[in-house]
Amino acid sequence: MTTFSYWEQQCLDSVDWVVVGAGLVGLQSARKLKESFPQQRVVVIDAHALGGAASLRNAGFVCFGSAGEMLDEIERTSESQALSLYNKRFQGIQRLMDRYGHDRLGFEPTGGMEVFSAQEADGAERVIDALGYLNGLVRSVHGSDAFLLCDAAKTGMNVYQKGIVAPAEGGIQTHLLYRAVREDAIAQGVEIYEGIRVSGWEDTSVGVEVSLAQGGVIRASRMLICTNGFTRDLIPTVAVAPARGQVFVTESLGSLPFQGIYHADQGYIYFRSLGDRLLIGGGRNRDFVGEETMDMDVTKPFEQYLKTYVETVILPGKSVRFEYGWSGIMGMDNNRNPLIGWHSDHVCLAVRMGGMGVALSAWVAEEVLNVVRDDKGI
Ligand SMILES: Cc1cc2nc3c(=O)[nH]c(=O)nc-3n(C[C@H](O)[C@H](O)[C@H](O)COP(=O)(O)OP(=O)(O)OC[C@H]3O[C@@H](n4cnc5c(N)ncnc54)[C@H](O)[C@@H]3O)c2cc1C
Repeated sequence: MTTFSYWEQQCLDSVDWVVVGAGLVGLQSARKLKESFPQQRVVVIDAHALGGAASLRNAGFVCFGSAGEMLDEIERTSESQALSLYNKRFQGIQRLMDRYGHDRLGFEPTGGMEVFSAQEADGAERVIDALGYLNGLVRSVHGSDAFLLCDAAKTGMNVYQKGIVAPAEGGIQTHLLYRAVREDAIAQGVEIYEGIRVSGWEDTSVGVEVSLAQGGVIRASRMLICTNGFTRDLIPTVAVAPARGQVFVTESLGSLPFQGIYHADQGYIYFRSLGDRLLIGGGRNRDFVGEETMDMDVTKPFEQYLKTYVETVILPGKSVRFEYGWSGIMGMDNNRNPLIGWHSDHVCLAVRMGGMGVALSAWVAEEVLNVVRDDKGI
């Protein structure tokens, strides 16, 4: 006997598309599917109401990759792959801005700044020396210089005197984007049911039988998995590792000597103004192994490390108290491109958003549609 009422089961039967994961990728992909196949029932389910998705736990950076990150990505992969990823993020943000508008997302066009440790002049100069080359590379995306040398000392931070500004970057209010995307999906006719956790499935000759942790099944013609950092729970062999990101927000500080979004330590530390509060996150490079987890706690060593970073580097000499602390789970791999395609006959994947999945999400939703139309495999 199923644990669902007769009526609840009616909601979960005769579904054309079941989309697992109500994050930015699941919701935008669902909207695209519904828009393209209006006669079909597109149902999004999620294990959590709020609280689970990286989409509501991120830092709200509108960014595409700092100069330092670009250089590393080129060295790790190739010029063309790094440029392609940068372009996907840039295009993704343009689509979000075109659809919802700057005001609705609380976009602050402050630009983003990459700062370097005062002790690592050589590392900073290596990136600064490459600015001409990097600007030439991404000019096809921006039409103008993406990276400009600036005076980082003006911020009052204890950092190397030269920094790099990316004028097209800025910050959004994460909850406003999430609400806009969710409302948009509902307006399109997407159904969203939360509190439903998928535990497994069987791809049958006619569709998918999705098993639920609380008992019961959903019978759907097709399933789209958008569980990003949690995907290994469902497909242990998938090339997506969970990567926890810990984030803290200070109490109100009265005022901040700067506004905007900042990248440091090759992007592993990020911080931004939130009015008169400071948000800071990252530090995963201190313990890659320990942070490869789906556990959503915050930990004392990270809290202490980031607090010390605020008090010695960002606001030197100031003592701060964190009022909020949370973590979110990203989906990572050495290959930083999203993984989009058919996993089996009726099961499609759109996962592995890396550290800039807000930027990628709208692009990914469009690509899902291309994959569905072309029946392209992974
Ligand atoms: C701390 C942090 C800071 C970040 N900062 C930025 C930033 O500033 N800018 C940027 O561009 N990107 C940032 N990102 C990345 C970005 O937030 C993510 O890449 C993006 O939100 C991923 O969206 P998604 O829809 O793929 O996954 P998610 O938002 O994680 O959604 C996946 C959903 O799947 C659900 N789920 C998982 N397993 C199951 C199951 N078995 N059954 C049912 N439901 C399930 C989860 O509950 C979750 O709601 C950050 C991420 C983190 C963690």
